[in-house]
Order: sequence, then structure tokens, then C-alpha cells
Amino acid sequence: MKKITEYFRYYLKTFFLWELFQGLKVTLRYFFKRKITVQFPEEMTPISPRFRGLLALRRYPNGEERCIACKLCEAVCPALAITIEAEPREDGSRRTTRYDIDMFKCINCGFCEESCPVDSIVVAPIQHYHMENRGENIMTKEKLLAIGDLMEERLYADREADAPYR
Ligand code: SF4
Ligand code: SF4
Repeated sequence: MKKITEYFRYYLKTFFLWELFQGLKVTLRYFFKRKITVQFPEEMTPISPRFRGLLALRRYPNGEERCIACKLCEAVCPALAITIEAEPREDGSRRTTRYDIDMFKCINCGFCEESCPVDSIVVAPIQHYHMENRGENIMTKEKLLAIGDLMEERLYADREADAPYR
């Protein structure tokens, strides 16, 4: 008897397109809700202050490079991606003459930023970058400083936001 009832219910549901209306009910429910689809690349989701993307070198507000060529970042880098050469300036201060990061080797671990005593090298919240020509994977000191100059406001704000948790 139970089997006959089940068959009856099954055919009744099939005849009245029950599953179809169940599906349309879900469609209708979401049709009037606020849309959450992001129109990438015109729109982007917010990026965490801790996001580890492309690297940058920062300057002090007076324009002076922060990096003192201590080479701690070079020593700590697990991917051996950083190459630094340095010599003293005329005023006796020590500065880098070469600061290269090979982005093919870099694993965006952020250890270089953690090790830097003067907050010079930082991982910036830049997630979209690409290389088209041989050699563009090497981020030179000039390129790193240019990114730092461009993003200083954001880099400062991100570090301030994260400071209570460090
Ligand atoms: S983020 Fe990590 S892998 Fe990349 S340069 Fe810094 S220490 Fe090396
Ligand atoms: S970026 Fe920081 S850790 Fe690396 S050499 Fe310069 S001062 Fe030292």
C-alpha cells in the first residue's frame, strides 16, 4: 500500500512540475536580494592590510631612503631572492648601490619585512602584476622605490592598522 502511495506522489509531483517550481522559488528569492557579484576588473574586493603582494622600498617623509643596507632581509630570505650591494656614502652613511629582488624566486612570505629594522622593505597590497619580457622579473632598487613612493600612504595606513596585533 505504501509503495502505491509513493508512486502516486511521485507522478503527482512530476505532473505538476514540483521540482521546477522549487528551483524557481530559489531563483525568485535571490532575484530581489542585493547583488553581491563583483564586476572585476572594474570593481575589486577590499584587500587586507596584511596582504602580501609585490614588494616595495619605502622612504622617510624627507625623501631619504630608509634602507641602511644591513642585509638582514637578504640573509633571512628563504628563497634567496634578494641581492644587495652596498658602500658608504660621502657623508659616512651606508646605503645600497644595488637592491634586486627576483620575483620568480620570491614566495611572498614577508620575512624580509619582518626582519627589516627600519621598515624599509615591505610587501605591498598589489596582487596583479605580470612580466612580458626577459629580465622584468628582477625588481631593481629604482622600481621598488617607485612603488614605495606611489603607495606610501596606503603602506603607512596598513601598518598602522596592523600595529596593535604585532
Ligand atoms: S617576501 Fe620572502 S621570498 Fe620574497 S623577497 Fe621577501 S623574504 Fe624573500
Ligand atoms: S631593506 Fe631593511 S633589512 Fe634589508 S638591507 Fe635594507 S635596512 Fe636592512
